[in-house]
Amino acid sequence: MSYGEGRVAVVGAGLAGSLMAVYLGRAGYAVDVFEKRPDPRSLGRQEGRSINLAISTRGLAALGRVGLADRVLGEAVQMRGRMMHSSRGKLSFQPYGSKDQAINSVSRGRLNLILIEAAALFPNVTCYFDSAPSDCDIDAGTITIKDEAGGSRTETYDAIIAADGAYSGIRREMLRRFGLSFQQDYLEHGYKELTISPTEDGDHRMFKNALHIWPRGGYMMIALPNFDGSFTCTLFWPLKGLNSFAAITTEAEVEPFFTEHFADAVSLMPTLTADYMSNPTSTLVTIRCWPWHMGKAVLMGDACHAVVPFYGQGANAAFEDCVVLDDCIKECNGDWAEVFKEYVTRRKRHTDTLADLAIGNFIEMRDRVASSSFLIKKKVEKLLLGLVPGFVPLYSMITFSTIPYADALAKSRRQNRIIGWTILSVTVFLAFMFAAAFMRQS
Ligand code: FAD
Repeated sequence: MSYGEGRVAVVGAGLAGSLMAVYLGRAGYAVDVFEKRPDPRSLGRQEGRSINLAISTRGLAALGRVGLADRVLGEAVQMRGRMMHSSRGKLSFQPYGSKDQAINSVSRGRLNLILIEAAALFPNVTCYFDSAPSDCDIDAGTITIKDEAGGSRTETYDAIIAADGAYSGIRREMLRRFGLSFQQDYLEHGYKELTISPTEDGDHRMFKNALHIWPRGGYMMIALPNFDGSFTCTLFWPLKGLNSFAAITTEAEVEPFFTEHFADAVSLMPTLTADYMSNPTSTLVTIRCWPWHMGKAVLMGDACHAVVPFYGQGANAAFEDCVVLDDCIKECNGDWAEVFKEYVTRRKRHTDTLADLAIGNFIEMRDRVASSSFLIKKKVEKLLLGLVPGFVPLYSMITFSTIPYADALAKSRRQNRIIGWTILSVTVFLAFMFAAAFMRQS
């Protein structure tokens, strides 16, 4: 079978699955998309919590491949740097990069809707909602869906692409067989989403073009701007212990805690107590597994490499999976066994690197961003950017380039070694000159 021919099932119409359906639809495959949630197109504009995420260069490149980047950017709020909130309410702004570099805060629901609408435009793509497969035979390439009347139907595919998130059902099928290594690591921190509402005129109550951070050492709160004037705040806090989510369980305890630790935010959060009590506390997981493919099925996105959200890259990486898989499908002319082999070979070490970077960035954001050593490091990076040709800070390579993650880290380590040696050589040289001058004088 050659490129664009045959039937493909995509399980999960989240961010990766719906973008992959667009790519496959454009290539000409007959695509069935199975999503367990209801059709967001039939739900209309939903009131309630806005949940957002930061999309950067990798995500935009993937969306741009099918002409969707500008559409998404049209509903995004640019964040040009971090706005730090000290315990005393002092603000300091740290740009992410040069003046024209920004990450983009977009509504997760709107982004998903845009992608599902784009996929559904292809006559060869059919989306089934409220439709989690009840069975999947990954060797035969079959998927069984139960219907409301108690019956079921089974369809056969040339390839099954599992984009069904961190708790993937298709991965579970693979685990039942011999040979899948799987590792799932939870942080001792969880998170809860809260809201800063817009002003009565629908404006933002804080500087809108920044990702706001309240670093408190050991825990932190962040806030990303929404298009509607609100901010979505996320409190990252230990799940258990004296100072933790488990320690605040009554309405009366909520406001005093926030007033003590996030004083300048509390007055902007009129629904704080109600939000805290009603919004779920969720866990943060890193998932690694190998191989990503078995029989006719392959994993993508969080299903094979969920990462903690502190580099703002999980969705960007899931979109980048689509780009790599799309390239492999073209290059291997639709030979799915070859496609899968090539895709995982190209991708796995990079997403492993991202998982480590994301955990490292948590420690940086909660403990170091406000420290003087971090600020000096950022100033040195800025200086080197002007002085050393080709020098690019690691954060910029991850966020503002499409250099594969592991290559970016390797380049950053090389740069650091060169800079370290240069500083050492200059120091030794200056010490030598100083000693020689001193000897001459005495
Ligand atoms: P998902 O988006 O989880 O989609 C999976 C889909 O599969 C869902 O629609 C689900 O309903 C469906 N599904 C599940 N099981 C089945 C089944 N059995 N059958 C059918 N369908 C099924 N990333 C960023 O790039 N930037 C950020 O700023 C960012 N912020 C984040 C903040 C938080 C608090 C968290 C937790 C994550 C954040 N991420 C961010 C990561 C990002 O959300 C994920 O990496 C991204 O959603 C992964 O996309 P996905 O399509 O693989 O999985």
